[in-house]
Amino acid sequence: MRHERVTRRTLLATGVAAGVAARAERSREAPGAQSVAPLLTGEPAGVARPDTGVSVYPFPLSAVTLLTGPFLANQGRTQAYLKFVDADRLLHTFRLNYGLSSSATACGGWESPTTELRGHSTGHLLTALAQSYANTGDTAYKTKGDYIVGVLAQCQARAATVGFNTGFLSAFPESFIDRVEARQSVWAPYYTLHKIMAGLLDMHLLAGNAQALTVLTAMAAWVRFRMDRLTQTQRQNMLDTEFGGMNEVLANLYQVTADANHLTTAQYFDHAEIFDPLASNTDALNGYHANTQIPKAIGAIREYHATGTTRYRDIAVNFWDIVVGHHTYVIGGNSDGEYFKAPDRIASQLSDSTCEVCNSYNMLKLTRQLFFTNPARLDYLEYYERTLWNQMLGEQDPDSAHGFVTYYTPLRAGGIKTYSNDYNDFTCDHGSGMETHTKFADTVYFHDNANTIFVNLFIASTVNWAAKGVTIRQDTSFPETNSTTLTVTGNAAFTLKLRVPSWAAGATVTLNGTAVAATPGAHVTITRSWTTGDVVAMTMPMALTRSATPDSATTQAVKIGPIVLAGAYGTTNLSALPTLNPATLTATSTPLQYTATASTGTVTLLPFYKMHHQRYTVYWNVTSAQPLPEFVAWYKFDETSGTTAADATGNGKTATLAGGTAWVAGRGGNAVDLNGSTGYVTLPAGILAGAAAATVATWVRIDTLTSWSRVFDFGSSTTANMFLTPRSSSGTARFAITTSGSGGEQRINAPAALPTGAWTHVAVTLNGAVGVLYVNGAEVARSTGLTLTPASLGSTTANRIGRSQYADPYLDGAVDGLRLYSRALSASEIAALYTSGT
Ligand SMILES: [Zn+2]
Repeated sequence: MRHERVTRRTLLATGVAAGVAARAERSREAPGAQSVAPLLTGEPAGVARPDTGVSVYPFPLSAVTLLTGPFLANQGRTQAYLKFVDADRLLHTFRLNYGLSSSATACGGWESPTTELRGHSTGHLLTALAQSYANTGDTAYKTKGDYIVGVLAQCQARAATVGFNTGFLSAFPESFIDRVEARQSVWAPYYTLHKIMAGLLDMHLLAGNAQALTVLTAMAAWVRFRMDRLTQTQRQNMLDTEFGGMNEVLANLYQVTADANHLTTAQYFDHAEIFDPLASNTDALNGYHANTQIPKAIGAIREYHATGTTRYRDIAVNFWDIVVGHHTYVIGGNSDGEYFKAPDRIASQLSDSTCEVCNSYNMLKLTRQLFFTNPARLDYLEYYERTLWNQMLGEQDPDSAHGFVTYYTPLRAGGIKTYSNDYNDFTCDHGSGMETHTKFADTVYFHDNANTIFVNLFIASTVNWAAKGVTIRQDTSFPETNSTTLTVTGNAAFTLKLRVPSWAAGATVTLNGTAVAATPGAHVTITRSWTTGDVVAMTMPMALTRSATPDSATTQAVKIGPIVLAGAYGTTNLSALPTLNPATLTATSTPLQYTATASTGTVTLLPFYKMHHQRYTVYWNVTSAQPLPEFVAWYKFDETSGTTAADATGNGKTATLAGGTAWVAGRGGNAVDLNGSTGYVTLPAGILAGAAAATVATWVRIDTLTSWSRVFDFGSSTTANMFLTPRSSSGTARFAITTSGSGGEQRINAPAALPTGAWTHVAVTLNGAVGVLYVNGAEVARSTGLTLTPASLGSTTANRIGRSQYADPYLDGAVDGLRLYSRALSASEIAALYTSGT
């Protein structure tokens, strides 16, 4: 069944409606997040069961107010549509289905009276109205939502009268459920029912509508009735048809009501064919309709929160890792023609139907639930940021007063965005768009259940932390400027955790003008008694980088910080990726706007979120090598367990401990302890590939001095390598580099061996023919005859601390604070490293 779906294009092109085995997509809700917030923040009551396995929570939408900026502008356009749209037109097919009169004009598109998916948009609308009311307090949204709920209740009450089972509520007849159970052609009836159920739950939780919970509970009882009548095999077969987030909304309802019947019903929608491989962390997604699967993972994490069963958590975590790691384009979206492909197929899957926006809507929902579960994983928020700016913000037409949105995000060269309309579209993405653009306030800040507030995203806004009596205002025009400022109003003791993005190498943070240590890819944590007027400011340098696809090293996208830049091509279509000369990228006077020379001539690059009404390319053909960052890697070795060592530059060059290497107290924080017999540390392949200049600087404490042991040795073999030994057979320390074995070594010989039993700072700088060896901040030797550079070694595969390419002794000692640069630091910079002790 899942392969019998029709895409939107097919549907619209052929006028397909009833009778075609098909599908839909998308889903929605907020309850997952919102349902936990009320209990913990004094919001309206209504959640009976706290979530298990959660340590971070969202603020209620009412507590966060967006300030002037692109997100508020998008929200305003969608909310104008919410006020405009005629509820009676979206209730027309419901009324007809229950024998009630309706004089409303029928909708078109996927809400036409003959489209099998009819009714789904009414559910999306309820959620968008509930979110808008919760966020703005404008009762116009609640009034419209209440009216819709009232009519839906009126319909549901007539179920028996028109021959349906009690509790059935839909704009299509209950016979559609007979058909999906009998495995006959029908377009995803439970998908649509999920949208209605989620909308009702949101009207209850976010807009205080008690009738919505009554109607929803009756719907849930009807679902239980239908599912109970089936065998487990029949149920599992039925789950081959897209069903949205039925397991999620029912798990949420269980959390709200504590009625275990809803959990049982939720678990009837656990799709073994999808869950089983995910539980064992197997990527079996190739060939599956993407947005049919993503909501199942959202349901899984909510079932974990409801039950504590870790298998559900593992399914959701593994799904996210697989999709983000191996099926995701640079803008954060996934799927081509709505389907997952083989892992790491990106460059080979650039089309007009890439990145259905519903998928990303659902991935973001999943991402925040996973962060609640594991706030140590800042990569969740980095994915959130990347997708929010590069896909979601730019899916809405800024020239549409009603916030019309895209369905796919074409990523073929020459693609162009196309948008929905008021009444003749109503695709899944029109529905998820209503939701996306009314909940930007939901992830900017989180809090824990005690004393900590998290600043996740750089969006101009205020958050009212009622539990502390504190308001924090965030002023920023990021990404057009690279800074943000947080100003506290109120007096309270608490911890502020500010996310320092991994892309912001060199980021600085100040508290009331005084510098605070900041590491990209980690939180800055400030605990104090805050008072009105306290200011935390952060600057986030945004470097121009390129991101290559996994299946084609020369297919690359250009980014400034996290923002994807796309080439603007006006009305010019393209038949192939243009070839970009990255050396010609030049900033213009307009923020984030560049010009460059490409095979098509001079081209302007804009942030992709600003690309509208013209053709574009996101990916380019780039044949020149990617330059290394200046500060390549920095291993503080401050971990306390495990076998990985983080790269504090944020470049992601994670190191791996091997052979029994242990953590030991180092120079402020920890160090790695090398045992002299088996222990070493491996750095990523190609760590200095292409570098014409370099610096390796580190602290080392040699416990037992053995000739030919290695402080470091980067190479691919005994033929090609560069190393530093604390003592060569000449009796002194030596740096050497070679591409022709030991006989071809070019060397810097120190006057003495490295000292033992004390922390010693050693550094080697290479620049042109000059190599300098420093010990404890002072030059001890140099060579002016070096013709080899790290680039001469190619992309080295065996880059180690403490171990030679040869069968030499291993290092017996400890290593701390190792830094790699793609330039030669100056003598004063080396001296400063020594003096500062870092
Ligand atoms: Zn969709």
